[in-house]
Amino acid sequence: MIEVKNLWKVYRTGNIEFTALKGINLFIGKGEYTAIMGPSGSGKSTLMNILGCLDRLTEGRYILNNKDVSKLTDNELARIRNREIGFVFQAFNLLPRLNALENVELPMMYAGISAWERRRRAREALAKVGLEDRMYHRPNELSGGQKQRVAIARAIVLNPSVLMADEPTGNLDTASSYEIMKIFQELNNDGTTVVMVTHEPDIAQYTKRIVMVRDGNIIEDRAVDNRITL
Ligand code: ADP
Ligand code: ADP
Repeated sequence: MIEVKNLWKVYRTGNIEFTALKGINLFIGKGEYTAIMGPSGSGKSTLMNILGCLDRLTEGRYILNNKDVSKLTDNELARIRNREIGFVFQAFNLLPRLNALENVELPMMYAGISAWERRRRAREALAKVGLEDRMYHRPNELSGGQKQRVAIARAIVLNPSVLMADEPTGNLDTASSYEIMKIFQELNNDGTTVVMVTHEPDIAQYTKRIVMVRDGNIIEDRAVDNRITL
């Protein structure tokens, strides 16, 4: 499902170049639950942004669900991002003037789904993350954990094959982090492939596989033993 071959990413700022990824090879199959770990600045977010089709690679190949993503136009890439990938960010990235329901409906606007159907599916996604009683609240009326649950509902509302998350618990307390990990495990149990960046070893223990990145290379790739299941 996710197949990365000899992936390089070079950032260019004026005439300064920085090589953030140095020939990464990675295969992630359907239904896996993977944590990407490593020190700050090692290239985790860069890798995640490329896997999530938010950014482009400089060299190499990225095949997502049998499509060579490296060859797509910007429009085609945006379409894949919306239809096949759900992305969750550390800072939630909700629109402050919209309530929870409206935030969750957003990805469906671009997918051309009727207003009635959008509302129905948004309610269903919010119920799945346990927020049926907060649908009409705006982000500033929600706790951090609740905001992240709205963001997860938005990410899964179009039934993506992959859910990607960059430090999803980075701004949350222990209890809220636990709630988020419970939801990720449920989604993974239901068949969604989950890829998550985290620098917290406790959080990685909820996943099935740890890929360790350092200085733009994968230095370790192993199964999680003594995995925590909720
Ligand atoms: P991590 O997520 O592991 O902290 P990042 O992928 O964010 O690492 O960054 C890896 C390296 O690439 C860092 O040295 C960072 O400064 C650099 N970098 C990230 N984004 C850019 C960018 N847009 N332009 C230039 N350098 C960048
Ligand atoms: P994280 O480690 O969570 O990725 P950062 O603070 O490293 O957070 O990066 C936040 C944003 O800034 C990212 O979108 C990244 O691409 C960008 N960025 C990071 N380093 C640089 C840099 N040296 N030059 C330009 N943009 C950068």
